[in-house]
Amino acid sequence: MPCTRKTPEAHLEEEERSMQSFPRGGMGSGLSPVDPRTLLVCSFILAAALGQMNFTGDQVLRVLAKNEKQLSLLRDLEGLKPQKVDFWRGPARPSLPVDMRVPFSELKDIKAYLESHGLAYSIMIKDIQVLLDEEREAMAKSRRLERSTSSFSYSSYHTLEEIYTWIDNFATEHSDIASKIRIGYSFENRSILVLKFSTGGSQRPAIWIDTGIHAREWITHATGIWTARKIVNEYGKDRIVTNVLNAMDIFMEIVSNPDGFAFTHSMNRLWRKNKSSRPGIFCIGVDLNRNWKSGFGGNGSNNNPCSETYHGPSPQSEPEVAAIVDFITAHGNIKALISIHSYSQMLMYPYGHTLEPVSNQEELYSLAKDAVQALYEVHGMEYIFGSISTTLYVASGITVDWAYDSGIKYSFSFELRDTGHYGFLLPAAQIVPTAQETWLAIQTIMEHTLNHPY
Ligand SMILES: [Zn+2]
Repeated sequence: MPCTRKTPEAHLEEEERSMQSFPRGGMGSGLSPVDPRTLLVCSFILAAALGQMNFTGDQVLRVLAKNEKQLSLLRDLEGLKPQKVDFWRGPARPSLPVDMRVPFSELKDIKAYLESHGLAYSIMIKDIQVLLDEEREAMAKSRRLERSTSSFSYSSYHTLEEIYTWIDNFATEHSDIASKIRIGYSFENRSILVLKFSTGGSQRPAIWIDTGIHAREWITHATGIWTARKIVNEYGKDRIVTNVLNAMDIFMEIVSNPDGFAFTHSMNRLWRKNKSSRPGIFCIGVDLNRNWKSGFGGNGSNNNPCSETYHGPSPQSEPEVAAIVDFITAHGNIKALISIHSYSQMLMYPYGHTLEPVSNQEELYSLAKDAVQALYEVHGMEYIFGSISTTLYVASGITVDWAYDSGIKYSFSFELRDTGHYGFLLPAAQIVPTAQETWLAIQTIMEHTLNHPY
């Protein structure tokens, strides 16, 4: 069974691989026709040889729970099948669907569990590996084009190295307005980088935007990159950007979880947490959106290191969180914080750890409403909005709660596209439309912040 065919394309693929510090899987386009079964086996062998996790036959199931009792049956699954069921949209409230990735080996059991408890489900993604292969092929194709034209494509996904190179080039090219700051190092000692947009002054009031705190949410990094370019392109042209940057600075952390992100490319595309490990603990990684001080360790976070929502041993135990806390605290003049996640199409504000409304909840509600309306007008995408605990679920130790409690009155969290058709595997063709619509919402928040100084 010949797995490799030395076509010119195949050679190119090999060269590309050798230029990277970590392996890639997937079969390149342009291979001569091969029996699909051979291709499947070959791609499995290739991925296995490169150490990448293969998700052939894994499915994403959507469950619509009718009531609280059915929701708790779904919550029980995490306990019954630890590390087997990966919730993409966790059990929240009966009005919201629950999406879960189930490995091929568990499908029969899980489906039987759902059926025996009268839980209705549908198959959202029939075979995850098919989408992953398509994603890799699209990246390889785009990379070839970028190399041959020495350009950067804002409509494709990129590796950590590619993004860091882009950040360097971007800061050099736009040095009049943008600069690169290293705010710390990750657990595996990677630089944690922030782009600063400033037209002068010192310690001006500022807006903070972070993307990619959860590694697998690739649409957020891509949206961050597009947004950074938009800011420099619009300064001096767009009224809002110009007014904001004449009075305030903007900070953007595009890869807020560099170790996890690198891991999504090298080993496990669906990795969420960071990569920290501690002696005597078998499972790796802390959920960086449960590691903040506000409500640390409370409901909606997990004490089990193997859980996807493990909060870590103590508040800010993780260097990726500590770096942001130290930077924002030392700055002392951040007026708005926007933390970007995916997926579900939501715009939310504090609190997550309690149902208690924040003191300016009416203002945040109406600002979120305006932002979502502005977003809708771009491509007709509908977002729901409200406080995190009432819109989504109670979640403790999260970024925006900490920001709010630290005096940042305008703290928002996005869940970008989509609502589950592709979930975390949103095709690259949706990067630009997602960024375009999100930009309108970000602009709305920025303008309100500018016009309501405190
Ligand atoms: Zn997230």
